[in-house]
Amino acid sequence: MTISLTQLLLAVVLLPFLWVIIDWMFVYLGDRRTRRRQRRVARECHLCGKHYPEGRRVKVSTCPDCAAQNVRGGHRKLG
Ligand SMILES: [Zn+2]
Repeated sequence: MTISLTQLLLAVVLLPFLWVIIDWMFVYLGDRRTRRRQRRVARECHLCGKHYPEGRRVKVSTCPDCAAQNVRGGHRKLG
């Protein structure tokens, strides 16, 4: 089996490209998984943006930084 120059060039160009895509996919999926896990246990303050842990069945929690009341699921009026 002989490999032509075009095939060789194609392989040289495509293989790193494939590698980058696969690498990006792993990073993207891992990032999404950690973010979902964080969202389940942490709450983001609507005022200062601080992430802090929150109990599971808590409806309203208080931010430790700015003492703002954060409602689970977000404010319907404020968005
Ligand atoms: Zn806050």
